Amino acid sequence: MSRLRIILGDQLSLGISALTGLDSERDVVLMMEVMEENTYVAHHKQKIVLVLSAMRHFAETLRQAGIAVDYVTLDDPSNTGELTSEMTRAVARHRPDGVVVTEPGEWRVQEVVEGWAALTGLPVEVRTDERFYASRARFAAWAQGRRAWRMEHFYRDMRREHKVLMEGEKPAGGAWNYDGENRKPLPESTQPPARLRFPPDTTTQAVMAMVEQRFSDHFGGLEDFGWPVSREDAVRALSDFIDVGLPRFGDYQDAMRAGGPFLFHSLLAPALNLGLLSPREVCQAAERAWRSGAAPLNAVEGFVRQVLGWREYVRGVYWNLMPEYADRNALQATRRLPAFYWTGKTAMRCLREAVSDTARYAYSHHIQRLMVTGNFALLAGVAPREVERWYLAVYADAVEWVEMPNTLGMAVFADGGQMASKPYAASGAYIDRMSDFCSGCAYDVKQKTGQNACPFNYLYWAFLIRQKDHLSNNPRLAMPYRTIAGWTSERQGAIVAEAEAFLDGLE
Ligand code: SF4
Repeated sequence: MSRLRIILGDQLSLGISALTGLDSERDVVLMMEVMEENTYVAHHKQKIVLVLSAMRHFAETLRQAGIAVDYVTLDDPSNTGELTSEMTRAVARHRPDGVVVTEPGEWRVQEVVEGWAALTGLPVEVRTDERFYASRARFAAWAQGRRAWRMEHFYRDMRREHKVLMEGEKPAGGAWNYDGENRKPLPESTQPPARLRFPPDTTTQAVMAMVEQRFSDHFGGLEDFGWPVSREDAVRALSDFIDVGLPRFGDYQDAMRAGGPFLFHSLLAPALNLGLLSPREVCQAAERAWRSGAAPLNAVEGFVRQVLGWREYVRGVYWNLMPEYADRNALQATRRLPAFYWTGKTAMRCLREAVSDTARYAYSHHIQRLMVTGNFALLAGVAPREVERWYLAVYADAVEWVEMPNTLGMAVFADGGQMASKPYAASGAYIDRMSDFCSGCAYDVKQKTGQNACPFNYLYWAFLIRQKDHLSNNPRLAMPYRTIAGWTSERQGAIVAEAEAFLDGLE
């Protein structure tokens, strides 16, 4: 019995369930580069290069292991451009007795795969993706009956269940969470380490040339491409993070610095999301660093919480709430995404830095995403779907299952509190405290209103005033709403008018 084993672009793991039991005498692995996957949003050029180069490297690894690989390249003249039509062409070529695939990471692709059995008349076996700590079913069982799904509760269950950073029944060090120690601004004298980047090899260079030609109108540049595209490079990237990033990752994970896009961050999300690294091995490496004294507990716990907690949790949210989750808009936000999200042309330095890092590296770290670009979109009332499509397009690590809940649930509170207990809204004071952006900005972060005032300041108050009906009962926002209650309606109206005039000016 021969089977067509399908490996999708984010399933580049030798241990993936679609390869389990592979018969190297009879089975063929099918890998497909298709336009459909590269254009459903206009992905950053680096993201396309990353995925296609990593796919080509993985195909080579399989071939070297003696596995037959049918690899359809994007520039193959007979390529039809869609997963389904490429799969049916491959069925005609190989005449297998069945098709095996691991469950896709994204809803859109799952819908595609669901049509394959009827189309081919073959049995299509869809296997669980076992690379995660929590299966979709495990998360569903955890979520059942809970009104709000708080990540912290899920994370603690995962720590216990998988015995990560535990001392018997107790969390390592006696506390579950060291976030309080992880909010330090970066002192001016602290120099972030140089980070390991990976110059493009010949495979990557070939993909780059094709991407420059076929996706020339997509966002971002390729000059600074440096992502790991193979398992070997991803393992080196993990070691680099453990050695030079992790020890101070905790202290400065919320800090931002102009010209310092990477600081102490792991830079591992692209490799994790493609399958070049497993969440288990990165958590184990971090835990080993703590147990050997190479990294402090606040850093290791903070990192483990991102991977074992946050990453698994958002995947669960995504699969439990799709497809209706994609259309959530609890705050009824309707503005268009400002053009500077693509051009970087704005006098607001924090946003300019975030967009220019994004264009150069297909990366900015999570606080830039949450508290600069996300915060601005929230305060400005940009339509959640527009913000979500932007994040999905521009970041090397952005796959929908992780990106969508982060955007809708965390950045713009479009799910009305399913994930976060309050919106992550902040004035310029937060950005000033956590970065060096404000000192070189055209606006004055200390001024609350007026032409030179930092726009985040009046946008913050205008947002709370505008959203009074939705948010004023939230106990975590009691303090700012008490402040607003002390203002006359004229003063409130003037702040909203100033914010609206600024936002209208952007259009
Ligand atoms: Fe951003 Fe305001 Fe600071 Fe300028 S002053 S960098 S707009 S927070």
